[in-house]
Amino acid sequence: MNINDCNKYYGENLEDEEKRKERNCKYDIEHQEELKERRRKYLADHPNHPKKVYDNEHREEMYKREKICSHNRRAYIKGNGGTMTAQDWNDILDQAGHKCLKCGSTENLTLDHITPIMKGGRNDKNNAQVLCGSCNSNKHTKTVDYRPLVLFKQKILPI
Ligand SMILES: [Zn+2]
Repeated sequence: MNINDCNKYYGENLEDEEKRKERNCKYDIEHQEELKERRRKYLADHPNHPKKVYDNEHREEMYKREKICSHNRRAYIKGNGGTMTAQDWNDILDQAGHKCLKCGSTENLTLDHITPIMKGGRNDKNNAQVLCGSCNSNKHTKTVDYRPLVLFKQKILPI
């Protein structure tokens, strides 16, 4: 898979992927640990499971594919403009009270681009918010700003 194939793949599958995620996410979230454990157990009990064999045979290829996609992502970030410093991230965390702006979790906090980089969002602190890993991946490529309500309550943003 080259860079163009990779972009094409994501471009074509983004829509379906989004729909699929929305449909499945509620069940997945509710059964996350159970599903993970079931999958782990199943693969451990089936050492010759096609997925395992496939993964082993294609490990290098998958690794390369991942690399290309992460390079693409970085290229997108650069192309969209903006810079983020460690200080910016600290400020954003402080403003959010070191909590996920959606669910309030304090675990696994990640930087979410409000307008996703893939949709042309800038990589700067005006386009960044704090979400936990799970809310971030559920948001996927949607543009949702969770900031105003929370920051309004804290009197940080005037409305
Ligand atoms: Zn969350």
